[in-house]
This record gives sequence, structure tokens and C-alpha cells, in this order.
Amino acid sequence: GGLATLTDEIISELRDRVGCPVLAPEDPGFDAIREVYNAMHPGEPALVVSCSGTADVIDAVRFARDNGLVVSVRGGGHSIAGLSASDNALLIDLAPMHAVQVDRAARVARVQGGAVWGDVDRETQAFGLATPGGVVSDTGVAGLTLGGGYGWLRRQHGLACDHLVSAEVVGADGRVRTASENENADLLWALRGGGGNFGVVTWFTFALEEIGPTVAFVGTFYPVAEAAQVIRGWRDYVNVAPNEVTATCLTITLPADPELPEAVHDQACVVIGGVYAGDAERGMDILQPLRELGTPLMDMSQPMPFTAVQSGFDAFFPRNTMQAYWKSRYLSELSDAAVDFVAAKAAERPSPMTLVNVFHMGGAIADVPVGATAFAQRSSPFLLSIDGNWTDPADNDRNIAWVRDTFAESARFGNDGVYLNFTGSAEEPAESGVDSAFGANLRRLAEVKAKYDPTNVFRANNNITPASG
Ligand code: FAD
Repeated sequence: GGLATLTDEIISELRDRVGCPVLAPEDPGFDAIREVYNAMHPGEPALVVSCSGTADVIDAVRFARDNGLVVSVRGGGHSIAGLSASDNALLIDLAPMHAVQVDRAARVARVQGGAVWGDVDRETQAFGLATPGGVVSDTGVAGLTLGGGYGWLRRQHGLACDHLVSAEVVGADGRVRTASENENADLLWALRGGGGNFGVVTWFTFALEEIGPTVAFVGTFYPVAEAAQVIRGWRDYVNVAPNEVTATCLTITLPADPELPEAVHDQACVVIGGVYAGDAERGMDILQPLRELGTPLMDMSQPMPFTAVQSGFDAFFPRNTMQAYWKSRYLSELSDAAVDFVAAKAAERPSPMTLVNVFHMGGAIADVPVGATAFAQRSSPFLLSIDGNWTDPADNDRNIAWVRDTFAESARFGNDGVYLNFTGSAEEPAESGVDSAFGANLRRLAEVKAKYDPTNVFRANNNITPASG
């Protein structure tokens, strides 16, 4: 209970010390800062420090510790589970820290802790380079990378965390450390998938690959009535596709928005999205079968700037408007029965913006040994994800129940654990799946946690309990 002691005098001391805005609930701008992807969980922080740089982060961590406040850290604010801001916490808001600097000679990008993927893609593509990120441009680099990170390059180049070569981290003790192969290598290992448990990452350094600027893209919308046939065809295709191909199957009903093509207005669709990470012309030939799985309502497939692909699905995920509750499960195969299940659930979705997705994995993800990084789920070829998204809070119970029931029913098709970046609510720790997600790596993670954050200052995350003794 540090709140009781958080007097105006103490707050003005912090204001004097830092070089950035410090907002209390009564201050103008506070509500705007509370806006996050998941409108169900804006959080009620006691204080927000909108950090301009590493020095502000250091001061904020020390201040929280001195005053017994829970520390909450926000990168891109896209947590589904409600981890973007905790109640009564001191929120370290990193949004102003979104610089990206490409070092062409070293083939790396230095990315600040509050950047979103659109920031990274814009700067790296200026040089024909990229690092594997997510598929929605305003998703945070930090949370996505620290939890693994799947995007359109995943089968060719692996996870976002696999390209993390070093990081600058403000620890629980308020000290700054570098995590790299040569310095605090255990910390780097833990940051590659172990989440926000080990401190505030103020800078990420990512290795870069040559991509684009034009890549082959498939984006074909089929009617949901053809879902079983389309998903089966997609599965048969991806099961033998080369690693350059990363393809995902999504189902959604887009609104009658004049910005969207009329052919899909209010139509329940199964969408095949995919990228060929290589020669664009050859890629279009290789992706062609994905455009012929049924009777397309709309086909956006064409060679496209990589940056356009990276924002191509933004319309599926509007910011600040959705009540969101997601669950996911890895599958070791996608049987015909599983396809029929996904197709039936796609037709039954209780809300238009709710998605039932199947991601194809494997390739470079599976080439990394499980013990090489904290991220342990590398062998399952598919991830089923049930993304509940709706707008009216009055519909929360019904939608949450549908996602939970669908998730529970899907257990009969495989039970390879959950993806921690797609978990429903932080209030359901038993279901957050930390044990199953980290498996054999959990023990080492607990030891690294004990070394860098023994008193669990950083616990507003998919929390790892520090090892004792
Ligand atoms: P935040 O809410 O800011 O943070 C999430 C967690 O990370 C919190 O625990 C927070 O404390 C911690 N954290 C944030 N910043 C830091 C930091 N600098 N240092 C230490 N800890 C920090 N996942 C994929 O893998 N691929 C996708 O394509 C993808 N697309 C998505 C699209 C949408 C619309 C949404 C809502 C989610 C998507 N996700 C995707 C899931 C995404 O990886 C997680 O939601 C992730 O947590 C988002 O990170 P963030 O920084 O935006 O979130």
C-alpha cells in the first residue's frame, strides 16, 4: 500500500527529477494515456510516467520501489490479458520512446522499448532490410518480442525473439545492464521469450535480413460457407510448402466501411493470408494455389511493398474500440476433424470481428533447439487461435463464454500448450499456461528471475516465480 503515502510533495519530487510528463488521474491527458487495444482493460494506474529516455525509466523504477508501488510497464499497449496497465500501479509508459536506428554496416537495428512494428518496418525497409515482427503495424515491439513473436517471415526467418541480439535493460535495482552473447548472456537468453519478467527493456538490437522492398503476397477472401474445403486445401498446401512461404487462415466479418471493398461488407469470410519471402515473381507462382481454394469474394493477392503487407491486416484490429478475450492452443496436426471443427466455429462466431485463426508454424522456428532461448514452443506445426473481439461491454459475458467453450472443446484435437501472447485474462493465472509454455526452460527462467529480480518487482506480466534458495 504505497498509495496512502503518495502525497503531492512526493509526486512533485518525481516531477522535478524526471525530464518527462508525470500524470496523476486528475491531470489532463490521463484518460488519453489509458487508451489501449483491449478496451476491457484500460487499467487504473495511480501514476503514469511517460518516459522520454532510459534516465526517466531508471528514476521511475527507483521511485516505485521507494514508495512501495507496483510497477507496470507498457510498450505498444496491445496486451489482451490486461497487462498494459495495472490498477494502483506506477505505469512506466514507453510510448514516447519509439526511435529506430538502422546500422547498415553491422546489419542491425536499434529499437527503443516503446516502438511499434510500423516504426521498425519503415526505417529498416528504407534500406531493403527487415526483422521478423508481427502482422499488425501498431502492435508493440516490446511485448511481442519478449513473448516470442510471430509474423509473415516466421517460417523463413523465425521468431522476433530469435533475431534479438542484444538489449539494454533497466533492472529491479534501477541499474542498467546490457544483455548480449558476451555480457549477461543468461539475461539475453531469458529475454528471448521469457516476457517482461527481467526488467524494462529500453533498447532492443535486432539482426536484419534482406527483404523486399516488394514481396509476393496472398490475401484471398472466401465465403465462410466454403470454410471446410478452403481450410483443408490450405492445410494440404502448407504441409508441403517451402520455408519461404508463411501462410495463415483467418475468419472474420468486416463491416460496411467505405474504406473496405464492397464485396466483403458484412460477409463472413475465410481469409488466406500469406507471404513468400524471396523473389516476388516466383513467389506469386508458388502462392497461386492458395488463390484457387474456393470461390473468392475478393482477392488482394499481388506483389506488394513489404510495408503495405505489414499494415494490410490493420483493419481487422481497430485500436481502442474492442473488448477482447483471446485463447490459443498449439496443435501437432490439423486433422480433417479439426478442420471441420474450425469451419463450424468460424460460421458460429458470436461477433463479426471475432476471429478463428490457424497459423502455420515450423520452418525456421523449429530449427532452433528448445534450450537455446527461453521460448520453448517450437515443434508444433499449427497454432489455433480464437480471438474474441466485440464492441459492447454488455456482450462481455456471452463472448467470453463462447471463446472459453470453443477453446475447451478444441482440446480434443491436441494439447500442446498455449501461446502466452494470446492469453485471455491475467485474472486467470491457472489458465495463463506459464508452466506448459516454458516446459523444460521454466527452471532456468526461475533462476534467472531470482538473479535479476529476486523480489518480483516486475510481476505485471506472464509471471515467473523467482527460484528460492
Ligand atoms: P503491452 O500491453 O505494452 O505489454 C505487454 C506485456 O509486455 C506486459 O506484461 C508489459 O509489462 C510487457 N512489456 C511491454 N513493454 C516492455 C518493455 N519495454 N520491457 C519489459 N516489458 C515490457 N503476437 C504475435 O506474435 N504476432 C502477431 O502478429 C500479433 N498480432 C497482434 C495483433 C493485435 C491487434 C494484438 C492485440 C495482439 C497481437 N499479438 C501478436 C500479440 C502481442 O504479441 C501481445 O499482445 C504483446 O504483448 C503486445 O506487446 P505490446 O508491447 O503492444 O503490449
